Amino acid sequence: MNIIECRNEITKYSHLLYEKGLVVANQGNISMRYDENTIYITPTNISKGDVSPQNIVTMDINGNVKFSDLSPSSEYLMHLAIYRCLKNIRAIIHSHPPYATSYSFKHNKIDISDIPEAAEFLKEVIIIPYFPAGTKDLANNVASKLKNDDGIIILERHGTVAFSPTLKEAFFHTERLEYAVKLKG
Ligand SMILES: [Zn+2]
Repeated sequence: MNIIECRNEITKYSHLLYEKGLVVANQGNISMRYDENTIYITPTNISKGDVSPQNIVTMDINGNVKFSDLSPSSEYLMHLAIYRCLKNIRAIIHSHPPYATSYSFKHNKIDISDIPEAAEFLKEVIIIPYFPAGTKDLANNVASKLKNDDGIIILERHGTVAFSPTLKEAFFHTERLEYAVKLKG
């Protein structure tokens, strides 16, 4: 995938997240690892419905912004921490799916093993205890608790983070978990 395709891919899935109600207002963020030291990430304070290939921010793995006047998503520390931890991951989606997020207000564990389709693709889903959005504490806690090298986690009272070698799979993880939690009622 070249740079243009990468930016188009992030744009496509940003719009899908917004259209499917997995984020509202300016919530959520998406990134892709282009090469070892180049990350593309959605900008802060822009609705995912308004993301375009031109307003996606380029940064290095240490968080330095390159060639952009816009600031990266406020959750960039969490994205970078996951990329540093999981070398095979190239795509991350952080969203606020209503059912999965709502579930974490009342529970600190989730078992989806009784939903065959979800269990097959998502393996074990963990719920990370609450830390304020955008903080180093949240980033460090997410990175230290990751068990699978491809999957999705729930952030207590906040949302989900899906990570995978492709953006398509990260999006599917998000949809699959949301659907599974909806079924569980
Ligand atoms: Zn969030």
